Amino acid sequence: MKSFRKELWFDLPTRRAFLNITPKVEAALIESGIREGFCLVNAMHISASVFINDDESGLHADFEAWLEKLAPEKPHGQYAHNRGEDNADAHLKRTIMGREVVVAVTGGKLDFGPWEQIFYGEFDGMRRKRVLIKIIGE
Ligand code: ZN
Repeated sequence: MKSFRKELWFDLPTRRAFLNITPKVEAALIESGIREGFCLVNAMHISASVFINDDESGLHADFEAWLEKLAPEKPHGQYAHNRGEDNADAHLKRTIMGREVVVAVTGGKLDFGPWEQIFYGEFDGMRRKRVLIKIIGE
């Protein structure tokens, strides 16, 4: 069995953003040389997510509006966590959107269902953060 590890680094210019990282994960899979196995992709920060969904801008606007209803960023003082911090909403949004995804690798490709794409969800940006890719198989 082979094992491959890679980190992707991000420094997004906004507090919140959704970024399609599918091409970067596909590039890592090619670099790994693994043809059959599993690919794990996880956010390495507790204020960011990795999730799978459709690459459609209306849906992304809907996610943003929905997350702001569930865990509004402001007022910062509404959260017990925000004593000396201001990112309680980012922790909550991250939990809702998830930490990681696992995709089957078949024939050297990510074995997606229809329209599935992998996204990095940033909820407390404007600083360097990373995502871990771990691929195992043969
Ligand atoms: Zn915090």
